[in-house]
Amino acid sequence: MVCPNCSKRYTHPNSYTRHVKNECIAVEPKFPCLDCGSRFRRKAYLKDHICPARRVAFVATTNPSSS
Ligand SMILES: [Zn+2]
Ligand SMILES: [Zn+2]
Repeated sequence: MVCPNCSKRYTHPNSYTRHVKNECIAVEPKFPCLDCGSRFRRKAYLKDHICPARRVAFVATTNPSSS
């Protein structure tokens, strides 16, 4: 199976369906980060995302005299 949008090849129907529905470049990212506005195609990506907005808040609260 070949994705019509990006020409990626898949041997397993499940992988192909998942790609076309969620991961393909043609798919609108469904998981926005509420802190910085970045959007992700997979929930796992959002979870692993090191948010710049959140990191700034973290640094500001724990290390106010940032050296
Ligand atoms: Zn694709
Ligand atoms: Zn973020």
